[in-house]
Amino acid sequence: MSLMRSLLLAASQNQWLRERASRYRFVRRSVARFMPGETLEDALAAARNLKEKNIGAVFTHLGENVAERAEAVQVAEHYLGVMERNHAQGLGTEVSVKLTQLGLDISPDFCFENLKSILEREDKKSTVWIDMEASNYVDVTLELYRRALAVFPRAGICLQAYLHRTKDDLEKLLPLRPAVRLVKGAYKEPPEIAFPRKRDVDESFFSLTQTVLRARKRGEMGRVALGTHDVALIRRISGFAESEGVRKDDFEIHMLYGIQRGEQMRLAGNGYRSIVLVAYGRYWYAWFLRRLAERPANVWFLLRNLF
Ligand SMILES: Cc1cc2nc3c(=O)[nH]c(=O)nc-3n(C[C@H](O)[C@H](O)[C@H](O)COP(=O)(O)OP(=O)(O)OC[C@H]3O[C@@H](n4cnc5c(N)ncnc54)[C@H](O)[C@@H]3O)c2cc1C
Repeated sequence: MSLMRSLLLAASQNQWLRERASRYRFVRRSVARFMPGETLEDALAAARNLKEKNIGAVFTHLGENVAERAEAVQVAEHYLGVMERNHAQGLGTEVSVKLTQLGLDISPDFCFENLKSILEREDKKSTVWIDMEASNYVDVTLELYRRALAVFPRAGICLQAYLHRTKDDLEKLLPLRPAVRLVKGAYKEPPEIAFPRKRDVDESFFSLTQTVLRARKRGEMGRVALGTHDVALIRRISGFAESEGVRKDDFEIHMLYGIQRGEQMRLAGNGYRSIVLVAYGRYWYAWFLRRLAERPANVWFLLRNLF
């Protein structure tokens, strides 16, 4: 892991920096590149724009590691409101939730009740996506995902290709016909837990993609979402899909708002299902630092905004 990436990921957990960062205008200007704004209205406006370009949207309300029960309940209620607005406006957007924001640190059962209230309200054609967080949460997240599938068979889970364990986790999930969003992984993890070299992470992503696309072709998978901005990898995957006879609409490419916009449009224009994760809300600090860590060149962009 590069030094810059390690420093940024360590800074993402720093309370002192968190409190100060949002006071600076140049930081807020830089954050604006990755999110349309802090309110749901901003996210809805972004979704309408994307829809005109034939690009779908998934909403995520920023925040994590909630410590108060009332706050976690408020987050669940916020998502219920979001889904109501989405349905009323016919935008076809979905939501992606973080379990630590729904009270996982308080208790898994309490968190599940909050998650369940969201699952029960979603329409039966949509997916509620569950994010994957740091490695110490993987076991409990997978356990709650299994419980979620019993309530709502279209629930989707994020799996991280950088973890050594993910190949096994995927094998164990396959009999449940999961919907999977595969990503590389965004947290600071030691080499015993995650591949330290980017090349190995990319290979793991490709290999897991082969597994999910083959399962999808056999009709044994729910939705397959590939969450990446890696254009070379996406080309390699589309070549593989074509050679295996997997249809373009059998999988989706998910990207983050503001990153690789040209590629998002190219995919949509070429008949692929292109979807953008739109993050919004006040608690953007840790999330923004992870975006900087993914691409240290973004730090120069931040500094340019300072001057
Ligand atoms: C829809 C979606 C959902 C996600 N959900 C989760 C989750 O639940 N849990 C989790 O751990 N991680 C999640 N991530 C983050 C993910 O794990 C990676 O950290 C992130 O996607 C960067 O990896 P990459 O695949 O884009 O490839 P990389 O190899 O890191 O990047 C490839 C290229 O993409 C561009 N790029 C990548 N990141 C950035 C950036 N921040 N700014 C500007 N350009 C960039 C650059 O051109 C770069 O060269 C999610 C990502 C996406 C797209």
